[in-house]
Amino acid sequence: MKLSSHEQVLSFCEARQVVENQARRLKPAATEKLSLNRSLARFLALPIRADRDFPPFPRATRDGFAVRSADLFKLPARLKIIGEIKAGAAPESMPRRLGHGEAVVIMTGAPVPMEADAVLMQEHTKRCHEGGIEALRQVVAGENIVPRGAEAGESQLLLDVGTRLTPTGIAVAASAGYSTVTVFRRPQVAVLATGDEIVPVHTSPGPSQIRDSNLHSLSAQIELAGGEPVPLPIAPDHPRELGELIALALEHDLALFSGGVSMGKYDLVEDALKAFKAEFYFTGARIQPGRPVVFGEAEAPVKRRKRSGTSPEPVAVRRVPFFGLPGNPVSTLVTFELFVTPVLRALAGGQPAPLLFASARLKTGLRMPAGLTRFLPARLSGEPGSIEVECLNWRGSGDLVCASRANCYLVVPDDRDGMNAGEEVSVLIFGTELR
Ligand code: AMP
Ligand code: MG
Repeated sequence: MKLSSHEQVLSFCEARQVVENQARRLKPAATEKLSLNRSLARFLALPIRADRDFPPFPRATRDGFAVRSADLFKLPARLKIIGEIKAGAAPESMPRRLGHGEAVVIMTGAPVPMEADAVLMQEHTKRCHEGGIEALRQVVAGENIVPRGAEAGESQLLLDVGTRLTPTGIAVAASAGYSTVTVFRRPQVAVLATGDEIVPVHTSPGPSQIRDSNLHSLSAQIELAGGEPVPLPIAPDHPRELGELIALALEHDLALFSGGVSMGKYDLVEDALKAFKAEFYFTGARIQPGRPVVFGEAEAPVKRRKRSGTSPEPVAVRRVPFFGLPGNPVSTLVTFELFVTPVLRALAGGQPAPLLFASARLKTGLRMPAGLTRFLPARLSGEPGSIEVECLNWRGSGDLVCASRANCYLVVPDDRDGMNAGEEVSVLIFGTELR
């Protein structure tokens, strides 16, 4: 057993708070201009503003007849059709202004003529033989019309700096005329898997070797959270080689180490980080899975080429955030979601996003000792209004196979020694970074 002099084990809430506080200090790097079609999931570095009123004219939201609502106060009301306005047609293309007792055929998305104050749906009319219509219902002023500028006025802020571009956001940008957008560059996130037993995915493992799955789960999570994964060679449990690879990892915007942070004799990551003047914000969290998670900041040289053709030399130092994630694959996945995402999001230029919890009714009760906040692989099912959740029968934090069947994690608060069947419980849905 190794005893650490700088042990700082926090509750889940404390650890998350530390991460959020540190994330607030971090700034994104440079910006770049991208074609709108390549901007999915990027964070805006310049805002999107309305280039005109939205909608730019009073817009019909139904196929039917543009009418003066007062003409329909008394039913049955007969209206004379004096023309037609299709989407894309100018209201001035009408033969003349709409008078009392008159209506104009109008399509969804077409501009409503000035004199009309409502659109009567086609379904609420009957054709009359003399070419007019009979209104079967009244309409209130404004019905089935979105007034000019009701969604946004010209020059209004539509998407602020730090907004992540979702398909909806991309549609907003397109409707305001942005064929290119200015976004933050994706932060480079080094991923360093450690462990003598770990081998790359393309090699055939010996009887006691384990394939490196963490590099791949972390790379996928980094991409989802808005970063660019930079895979490093697997580090053996050997101080010198580990130190050299940590130095390489710290050349990036964020360094993630997987494995080697527990209490075992060969868990060397924390010690190795001390050579880089590491400051540890915490060295563990009272959670399951993922208790040995480590968060801190270490010193890395800033290198520049003094002359072209020469190799880069250190010219200054900078502080680089790092996480030591426990090597057990489910612990790695969970601790990334819980703690890495706020830091990565800040480096990517995103506005802070809280964890998204949902509530559901627990199908089957469970018992366990209190003292840890637990995130247990679980499955949500059911229909709107009666969502149920059931914990999966996992074999602990190495059980990736079970975790791959989960669609959420059941949250057990640290003051509970069990959860009862039928109880309303919280679940955490992972992979919701695209927001
Ligand atoms: P550690 O945190 O280094 O004590 O590792 C804990 C467990 O996770 C051990 O069973 C390791 O074999 C496993 N493990 C560590 N790193 C990886 C990895 N990159 N991919 C898959 N399993 C890993
Ligand atoms: Mg290890």
